[in-house]
Amino acid sequence: MEFAGGLVPTGDALGTKNDGFVERASAMEIHARLRRTYETKNTVNSTPRIGSTTISCDVLVIGGGAAGVAAATAAGHAGAQVVLLERYGFLGGLATTAQVGTICGLYLRDTTGAQATPVAGGFANEFSSRLQSDSGTKPLCVDSGLWVLPYSPPIFARVADAIVSESGNVTVILHATVAEARAEDSRMNLVCALAWNEPLNFSPKAVVDCTGEATAAALAGANAENGATDQSPALVFVLENVDPGLVERGLLEVRRELRRAVEDGSLPAICERLALVPGTGTNGRLALKLSLFPANPDRALWQQVTDWERESRALLEPLHRFLIGNVAAFRNSRLDSVAPQLGVRSGRRILGRARLADEQVLDARKSPMGIARGCWPMERWGKSPRPEMTYFAERDYYDIPLDCLRPVELDNVLVAGRCLSAETGAMTSARVIGTALATGWAAGTAAAFQAAGRPLDDAVAQIRRQMS
Ligand SMILES: Cc1cc2nc3c(=O)[nH]c(=O)nc-3n(C[C@H](O)[C@H](O)[C@H](O)COP(=O)(O)OP(=O)(O)OC[C@H]3O[C@@H](n4cnc5c(N)ncnc54)[C@H](O)[C@@H]3O)c2cc1C
Repeated sequence: MEFAGGLVPTGDALGTKNDGFVERASAMEIHARLRRTYETKNTVNSTPRIGSTTISCDVLVIGGGAAGVAAATAAGHAGAQVVLLERYGFLGGLATTAQVGTICGLYLRDTTGAQATPVAGGFANEFSSRLQSDSGTKPLCVDSGLWVLPYSPPIFARVADAIVSESGNVTVILHATVAEARAEDSRMNLVCALAWNEPLNFSPKAVVDCTGEATAAALAGANAENGATDQSPALVFVLENVDPGLVERGLLEVRRELRRAVEDGSLPAICERLALVPGTGTNGRLALKLSLFPANPDRALWQQVTDWERESRALLEPLHRFLIGNVAAFRNSRLDSVAPQLGVRSGRRILGRARLADEQVLDARKSPMGIARGCWPMERWGKSPRPEMTYFAERDYYDIPLDCLRPVELDNVLVAGRCLSAETGAMTSARVIGTALATGWAAGTAAAFQAAGRPLDDAVAQIRRQMS
C-alpha cells in the first residue's frame, strides 16, 4: 500500500506480513500505527480535505454491505492493495443492520425442482456455501418456486469479516464514514472520511461505491436519481416464545385481527403490513417485519428516515401488546430484539453508462458484457400491505452489463449493489443480496484491473469465466 509519504515496505506499520497478507487489526490499531509512522502534510494536490493523514491505495471500497464485502474480496484476490471503509462497527450492511434474514437471488426459480439450483458459479455461491456450513441453514423454497437461504445476521457478519480477511491485501477500517469525495479530470482522486471521529483522506487509483446510496459518486458529481419513493422501508424485530405452530398455519388469523384493529382505530394502518421473515419461528423465535409507507417526495430523506425510525420503534410496544391479547400464538411471547437500523429498500442510485431496463429483466435478456446474473422477480413493496410480484420465465436469468455499474461522469469509479443504474422495476429485482454479492464481485474485479491499467474488456472476460 502506498501512502502520500511514499511506498510502505513489507512488514510495515499496517501490519503487512512478509507473505504479503495483511494481519487482522482493529481500525483503532491501524489508525494509531498510521498516525505514528506516516503522518504527512497535505502535499498531494491543492484540493481541500478534512484531515492531515492521506492514505493511497489501489482500490478504495466504500461501504461494507454484501456488495462491498464482495468488491473488496475480489479486488484483493486480483492483487490490488485495497481499503474497505464501513460506517458501522461490523460488516454486512442491510443484511446485518436491518436483519433482513434471508438471501434472495442465489437460486433459479423453479416450481418443479426439488432442490435449489445456483444461478451462477463464483463468489455469491462460495459465500452462501460458507454461510450454510457456519450457520447450519439450508435453501428453502418459500413460494411460487422461489428459493431463499435463511441466515443468522451475526453469523453473516462473522463470515463476511473472515472472507475479507482471507482474501489478502484488504485493510478494513470500521466506524469510517465518508463525508466528502472530489474528482478532477473525470477521476475521483480524493475521499475524506471520519474514522472513529478522526479525519482521514484517501487517494485511490480506483473506487467502488457500495454505500447503497451512491454517496461517494454523488458527492464527486455523478448524476443520480432518488429511488426512496419507489419502495417502503421496514423494521425487523424478533419475538421469542411464540407458538411454533403459527408458522405452519400462516399469518391469516393474525392479519384478520390486525385488520379489525386498524378498522376500529385501535392500531394505525401500517400494522396491517406485518409480514413473517421466512425460515424463522419453528423454534419459537419469530422474526417479523413491519413495512411502513414509501417516502414522501416533498420531504428530505434524512427527515423522513428519522421519523420512520422513531415512529416504527414506538409502535412496537402497542402492536406487541395487541398480539399478546388477541392472538393465542403470541400469548406468552416476549420482545427479544429489534434491528439496529430500519431497512430502506430503495435509495439513491447512479445514472450509469447503461441503465438496466425493466424489459431486460422481464425478457431475461442476456448481454455479451454481462458481469452478474439476476434471477429474483420484481418485488415491489409499495402502498398495499403485500408486495407486488412480477415474474419472468422459470429456470432463467437476466444479465447485468458492466456499464450499469459505471457512472457517466467518473472514469475510475464503479458502483455495486442497490445503487447501480436501473429503472424502478428492474431495481426491485436487482437489489437483493445474492445479486448484490455478484455485482460487488464484478465491480471489485473491474476496479483492480483499472488500478493496474489493464483493459476492462479483460476484466469482463475473467468475470464471465468465473460465473459459468
Ligand atoms: C426490509 C427489507 C427486507 C429485505 N429483505 C430481503 C431478503 O429477504 N432477501 C434479500 O436478498 N434481500 C432483501 N432485501 C434487500 C437487501 O437487503 C439489500 O438490497 C442488500 O442488502 C443491499 O446490499 P448493498 O451492499 O448494496 O447495500 P447495503 O446493505 O445498504 O450496504 C451499504 C453499506 O455501506 C455503508 N455506508 C453507507 N454510507 C456510508 C458512508 N458514507 N461511509 C461509509 N460507509 C457507508 C452502510 O453502513 C452499509 O454497510 C431487503 C431489504 C429491506 C430494506
